[in-house]
Amino acid sequence: MGKPTGFMEHPRELPPDRPPAERIRDWEEFHLHAPEKTLKVQGARCMDCAVPFCHTGIILNGMTSGCPINNLIPEWNDLVYRGLWREALDRLHKTNNFPEFTGRICPAPCEAACVLAIIEPPVTIKSIECAIIDKGFEEGWVIPEPPARRTGKKVAVVGSGPAGLACAAQLNKAGHWVTVFERDDRVGGLLMYGIPNPHLDKAVVQRRVDLLAEEGIRFVTNTEVGKDYPAERILKEFDAVVLCGGATKPRDLPIPGRDLKGIHFAMDFLRANTKSLLDSNLQDGNYISAKHKDAIVIGGGDTGTDCIATVMRHGCKSLVQFEILPKPPMERAPDNPWPQWPNIFRAGYGQEEASVVFGRDPREFCIMTKRFAGDEHGHVKELHTVQIEWHRGENGRPVPREIPGTEKVWPGQLVLLAMGFLGPEDMLLQSLGVDRDERSNVKAEHGRFATSVRGVFAAGDMRRGQSLVVWAINEGRGAARECDRYLMGSTDLP
Ligand SMILES: Cc1cc2nc3c(=O)[nH]c(=O)nc-3n(C[C@H](O)[C@H](O)[C@H](O)COP(=O)(O)OP(=O)(O)OC[C@H]3O[C@@H](n4cnc5c(N)ncnc54)[C@H](O)[C@@H]3O)c2cc1C
Ligand code: SF4
Repeated sequence: MGKPTGFMEHPRELPPDRPPAERIRDWEEFHLHAPEKTLKVQGARCMDCAVPFCHTGIILNGMTSGCPINNLIPEWNDLVYRGLWREALDRLHKTNNFPEFTGRICPAPCEAACVLAIIEPPVTIKSIECAIIDKGFEEGWVIPEPPARRTGKKVAVVGSGPAGLACAAQLNKAGHWVTVFERDDRVGGLLMYGIPNPHLDKAVVQRRVDLLAEEGIRFVTNTEVGKDYPAERILKEFDAVVLCGGATKPRDLPIPGRDLKGIHFAMDFLRANTKSLLDSNLQDGNYISAKHKDAIVIGGGDTGTDCIATVMRHGCKSLVQFEILPKPPMERAPDNPWPQWPNIFRAGYGQEEASVVFGRDPREFCIMTKRFAGDEHGHVKELHTVQIEWHRGENGRPVPREIPGTEKVWPGQLVLLAMGFLGPEDMLLQSLGVDRDERSNVKAEHGRFATSVRGVFAAGDMRRGQSLVVWAINEGRGAARECDRYLMGSTDLP
């Protein structure tokens, strides 16, 4: 339970990040670790609240509250406080296959739901999680643990993002032979090619992938199931299939000038950058450079923040981020009480960096792009926008209204579209013949994960739409459990 009076004695203290002005000069991670002494004190702030909400993982008002993988947070906080790091690691691995990912990039809905957060800044759950697993690797406690027995059953997992990796890890634990198919050249999905290196070091991702391979999981890269590897073949060759292909269809902005050169989907920009970084330290030139350009990122969210951090490292001339929604309040609104996720104004690591370099937060709120204008070479040179205000439409839903006289022209030679994703791609799902839901995701109930095709399961963004890494892990684990039950008649997987 930590120290009984810990939260009354010690304020919340986060490990520092590297200073923005320094970190934009390289591609290394920006997180730093707190010393062990500080972490113990922070663990002591966990106050034995009797009914902890931090590990609930429920949806309240459309947003996640508490940890979706039900991490045993108060238990490992207490173990860290008592210096029992190895025991804390064992407790953490019971619920989370990849704490080194969530400890770095999870938005920490656990902290928003921490009971202490009703009256004080919450316990530093995420940094304690990260410290436990990083220490586990440093001490050599995390080693390959192949299963003692094999069942002889073969399972194909399509897609190697966090859902696919968690699913594969669990099915392998249960003794099945698991093959993970990945169409890209590297394993990891958005952990590898979405989230940039400064936020999640690719060596951290590869270290876990190597461990999984040593435990007996087979990875087949550069192979798109449904194209290079026919869907009928996978159904015939494997006893079960789990679809973890993500929700990769980007939302477009079909306005005049969209065809001009220099306008890219965020993922095309981010993927090329990380690939070039890993292949050649950006020496091969196979990426879209923002150097000396006026860069405009359209859309907020994690993807927009990652675009900002990347253009900052390229050395852009100027930077603006357009957000169509209003600026959120600085503190919880009355209709957004604890333990809901607080919908408040935050600066991500990219916005922090842009603020330090350009002297202001790059975000413009309530702004709508009307058209792109180009130069004589067909290259985008400016964006025409208008301010909007939101009002309630006939059905009560918010509708934007343009404010006359607020038209503006912005210089921009690089435009990145980061407006979210519309669902999974069609080819594989059509060739397998699985049913889709009204949002075009694979239809499969959460908790059962079975699709309309017998022996085929679905998990992660492909089933729930673009979400969070921690939800992908939740779903990958759940789909593995149900797949194991299907194969064996019963299951011991959690
Ligand atoms: C830029 C960006 C930043 C993000 N940042 C964060 C963050 O900071 N924190 C957070 O919690 N979440 C973040 N997210 C969301 C998070 O990354 C996703 O919710 C999560 O990765 C989903 O995992 P997944 O395994 O379902 O799919 P993905 O990670 O998308 O992986 C799917 C994989 O399947 C492969 N694939 C698809 N079809 C086939 C096929 N037919 N054959 C073979 N392979 C196939 C794809 O190539 C891909 O590698 C971010 C998302 C983006 C786009
Ligand atoms: S996985 Fe995310 S929600 Fe769960 S404990 Fe870690 S930081 Fe919190």
